[in-house]
Amino acid sequence: MINVTKTFLPKQSEYQAILKKAWDKEWLTNRGVLVKELEEKLKSYLGVANIIATTNGTLPLQIAIKALGLTGEIITTPFSYVATTSSIVWEGCIPVFVDIHPEYLTIDETKIEAAITPQTTAILATHVFGNPCAIEEIEAIAKEHNLKVIYDAAHCFGVTYKEQSIFKYGDVSTCSFHATKLFHTGEGGALFTNLSALHHRLFYHHNFGHDGPESFQGIGINAKMSELQAAMGLAVLPYMTAVLKERQAIVAAYDEAFKKAEVQTLKIRQGTQWNYSYYPVIFKTQEQLIKAQTALNNEQIFPRRYFYPSLNTINYTNKEFCPISEQIAERVLCLPLYNGLSVEITKKIIEIVKGEL
Ligand SMILES: *Cc1c(COP(=O)(O)O)cnc(C)c1O
Repeated sequence: MINVTKTFLPKQSEYQAILKKAWDKEWLTNRGVLVKELEEKLKSYLGVANIIATTNGTLPLQIAIKALGLTGEIITTPFSYVATTSSIVWEGCIPVFVDIHPEYLTIDETKIEAAITPQTTAILATHVFGNPCAIEEIEAIAKEHNLKVIYDAAHCFGVTYKEQSIFKYGDVSTCSFHATKLFHTGEGGALFTNLSALHHRLFYHHNFGHDGPESFQGIGINAKMSELQAAMGLAVLPYMTAVLKERQAIVAAYDEAFKKAEVQTLKIRQGTQWNYSYYPVIFKTQEQLIKAQTALNNEQIFPRRYFYPSLNTINYTNKEFCPISEQIAERVLCLPLYNGLSVEITKKIIEIVKGEL
């Protein structure tokens, strides 16, 4: 069976060798040696000054909203994973959806200003499939209207924009290290900010608000990464260069096959060093997508309709009309892309998809 993704696993012996350090210390969580080591290695791998490792990629979004003191309305994208929207609602704010760009698939920056009201406090946008938002334009709008910016950068491990880590942009950026993501710790994630006062606030929030064993800086939650998760990250990290190289080759094969085909592929924003995290194809119609999906399923190949449905249509959100997001959500299919996907299977996937165009 071929799934849309397959978790990269390091050698079990390597994971165990790292875990031994936790056994030696008899210490499994509360920021032990492995979490600290992973944070230091990620800082240097990614080229960032600050990082807080977390237990997943959703709590960082909620913590960012809390730490920035956001209330009222948050402008966001309907084309993302549900965690982007649910975090806004969970924190008691109202998501206001702005439609997406038809080629980059990120929030359409030219439509943001029309959605701003006196209640708007922030923009929470997703760098979709690792493709950066219109960062400069969003920053200018935020400055003009005194809004905070949070980027859901769950897909963005290793992405750079204008030679800088993508995680350096916005007031806060978040990442997911879930097992289905490019770099993973089983479950896991991270918070990033360049602002040192904000970094401290995020840090307290992720650990119950503690600023000592018996004192509290303020309210907090538990989003700490455990030593078991960090050990997985430390075992996976040395493979990332090879992982990226292999994914790049698969993406090149897909690109070559689809460049003249009647199917839309992702347009990467200029200035981006991309991470080959997903391979979405956008069909002309939903019927065509379903035919291709069925044909692939018949061969035990399981691509994923991602993102679907458009988040402005789910039952607990406002129903702002976002025709581009709704249409693309109905026609987008992410093809299998992972380390170990063979050339033969890639060719087979291409043939089946092209056969339905
Ligand atoms: C995976 C993902 C999340 C959530 O991350 P978890 O680690 O699964 O909690 C949030 N946003 C986007 C865009 C994602 O793809």
